[in-house]
Amino acid sequence: MNKKIAVYPGSFDPVTNGHLDIITRSSELFDRLIVGVLKNTSKPCTFAISERIAMLASCTRGINNVYVAGFDGLLVDFMKQHKARVIVRGLRAISDFEYEFQMALMNRNLYPQVETVFLMTDEHYSYLSSSIVKELAGFNADIKSFVPRSVMPYLNKQRTARAKKYSDSSKTIVKKRRKH
Ligand code: ADP
Repeated sequence: MNKKIAVYPGSFDPVTNGHLDIITRSSELFDRLIVGVLKNTSKPCTFAISERIAMLASCTRGINNVYVAGFDGLLVDFMKQHKARVIVRGLRAISDFEYEFQMALMNRNLYPQVETVFLMTDEHYSYLSSSIVKELAGFNADIKSFVPRSVMPYLNKQRTARAKKYSDSSKTIVKKRRKH
C-alpha cells in the first residue's frame, strides 16, 4: 500500500485550537501525519521545545495516526528522514499567503518531489494565533476556548512568572526612587 505521509511544521508556541483543527482535518486526509515542531525558530519562543512537544502530544493523544517530533535545520531533510512528500500548512488570511507561497516554492526547489497542501482555517479560528493567545493570557483574559486544555497549565505558569517579574522590577524602581 502506498502510504501517504504528511508533515505539518510550525513553531506551535503554544498549539492553539486553530492548529488542532488543521491537525484533525489533515489526519483524515493522510495515512500518517507528523507534526514537526521547529526547535530553533527565527522568532524567539516563549516555551521550550520540550514543552511545545508535550502540549501537542497531550492534545493529539486521541488521534492515532498523528505523531509529534521536534526538528532542527531544513524541513526538507526532516521530510526525507520520515519518507514524507506532503507539507501541510494552514491559511488564515491573505496576509499569510505571501510568506507561505515563498516557502512552498523554496521547499519545492530544494526537494522537487514535495507538495505543499494548504487547508483553509475554520472560520471560528481565522483570527487566532499563538502570539494573540499569549498576549491575552498576560492580561488575564479568558482563553479557554482558544487553546486545548493541555495548554492552560503552561500559560498559567508563564502568567505567574511574568507577574512575579513585573512585581520584582517595580520594587526595584521604588527602591531607586527612595535613594534620591
Ligand atoms: P510559524 O510556522 O509561522 O511559526 P505557527 O507555528 O504558528 O506558525 O503555525 C504553523 C502553521 O499553522 C502555519 O501554516 C500557520 O499558518 C498555521 N496556523 C496557525 N494558526 C492557525 C489558525 N488559527 N488557523 C489555521 N491555521 C493556522
